[in-house]
Amino acid sequence: MSTSADLAIIGGGIVGCATALAIISRNPGLKIVLFEKEMQLASHQTGHNSGVIHAGLYYRPGSLKATTCASGREALYRFCVEHDIPHQRCGKVVVAVDETELPALDELERRGQENGLNGLQRLTASELQKREPHVRGIAGLLVPQTGIVDYVRVTQTMAGIFQSRGGVIHLHTPITQVSRDSDSYLIRARNSTFRARSLVNCAGLHADRVAISAGMHPDLRIIPFRGEYYEFKPERSSLVKHLIYPVPDPQMPFLGVHFTRMIDGTVEAGPNAVLAWRREGYHRSDISLRDLADTLTFRGFWKLSARFWRVGLEEHGRSFSKSLFVKSLQRLMPEIRSDDLIRGGSGVRAQAVDRKGRMIDDFCIQTEGRMVHVLNAPSPAATASLSIGEHIAERVMALIK
Ligand SMILES: Cc1cc2nc3c(=O)[nH]c(=O)nc-3n(C[C@H](O)[C@H](O)[C@H](O)COP(=O)(O)OP(=O)(O)OC[C@H]3O[C@@H](n4cnc5c(N)ncnc54)[C@H](O)[C@@H]3O)c2cc1C
Repeated sequence: MSTSADLAIIGGGIVGCATALAIISRNPGLKIVLFEKEMQLASHQTGHNSGVIHAGLYYRPGSLKATTCASGREALYRFCVEHDIPHQRCGKVVVAVDETELPALDELERRGQENGLNGLQRLTASELQKREPHVRGIAGLLVPQTGIVDYVRVTQTMAGIFQSRGGVIHLHTPITQVSRDSDSYLIRARNSTFRARSLVNCAGLHADRVAISAGMHPDLRIIPFRGEYYEFKPERSSLVKHLIYPVPDPQMPFLGVHFTRMIDGTVEAGPNAVLAWRREGYHRSDISLRDLADTLTFRGFWKLSARFWRVGLEEHGRSFSKSLFVKSLQRLMPEIRSDDLIRGGSGVRAQAVDRKGRMIDDFCIQTEGRMVHVLNAPSPAATASLSIGEHIAERVMALIK
């Protein structure tokens, strides 16, 4: 089979679907096809995340993360209202447990203000207790813009609108190769070849491979980090009222293990961050020799490991030992017990790492020929997705006009 389109999008996570929606909304006549390798959309990062609508507190002012998170967050709230998607703007607290964390909390507050967050509020220990009675901390920062939503539902809604405007989605269609053919791209799936004038790669955990298969030489690799969650037993879920976060380690791109009341009412604790032996390895025993070889033969991985081996060992310890995991939660909530929690799900983050072993902090979107490759879209890309989609739409329109 061989069909043609103006634009092909690879990846049916939230970034691919938001991009498809943004482009078809600007250009109703354009023939756009989206390919997703799984039977369902949002099967990977988008369907395994914390469900938090991030305010944009942490990100370097002026970065793509900071700007798209701010505009994407408000666009997402509007989108949820418009399409009747359950969500809550419930706010969150970042908790300083002792004095050593106060300077970092000050810095977060300053960053938040610089990122345009109004209404940030410093909480004393007793104000903190009023809001989250089971948390122990000496100070808190209340961030009112933070919320919760089900990102699978958001993605499905985006995809539904895209299809209603003439877009086409092929599920269960893994793209194996992209090649240039005079003025178009040949996109190969298992039993079929598609032709498109332009291409957007939103393949998440496989974005680097798709880019390489398309002839690009990205200076990075995706390293998969699994995040594991515990779920509160229903009778203990009242320990958490809203969202509770620690002060993050500024050296790490992850936000630290937090407590999240999900939109379905369940409460989760997590995620940690352990190296996954498989890009879609949701269980500790999941191994892919190909994925492992890709990680271990990448020089950047060894440089990263040389710097973070101690943190890595601690994270692995927490992965294997529930009591270590619970111990780290008890820093924020001393009364929590192992018995209050059952093992929950997990997600795998696609974190791009460069050859020098640096985790790429900002979103990374590169253009080559008439292709746009989304090579790093970790958290808060779900929050920012509608804005990332608009950003990519602008680039694509400049390429194909
Ligand atoms: C544990 C965890 C917690 C997180 N928490 C939050 C949060 O609370 N808030 C927030 O904003 N962000 C959060 N994030 C980040 C957020 O989930 C991701 O940034 C976002 O989902 C990325 O979307 P994506 O579309 O780029 O990737 P994905 O959702 O991974 O989608 C990529 C898609 O591409 C498909 N694909 C890959 N290769 C091919 C191929 N060759 N052919 C066809 N299809 C292909 C995959 O099957 C997949 O469906 C979290 C992430 C994780 C892992």
